[in-house]
Amino acid sequence: MRVEVDADKCIGSGACVIACPEVFSQDEGGVVILLESAPAPAQHEQVREAARACPAEVITLVDE
Ligand code: SF4
Repeated sequence: MRVEVDADKCIGSGACVIACPEVFSQDEGGVVILLESAPAPAQHEQVREAARACPAEVITLVDE
């Protein structure tokens, strides 16, 4: 799995960080920071939950 985020469209809700803090963080302005673009298989379900939870739909998952 590869993770992409469109930070320009992030509205800073923090839902992704709540769902998967190992992969997503936020800067001081609340904008998403991608910590890991190729998360380990054990994190995939949490990452999928983060993508579902994002209200701005800016998290894209690419299955490889
Ligand atoms: S859930 Fe979406 S809108 Fe909220 S901080 Fe994460 S990427 Fe940004």
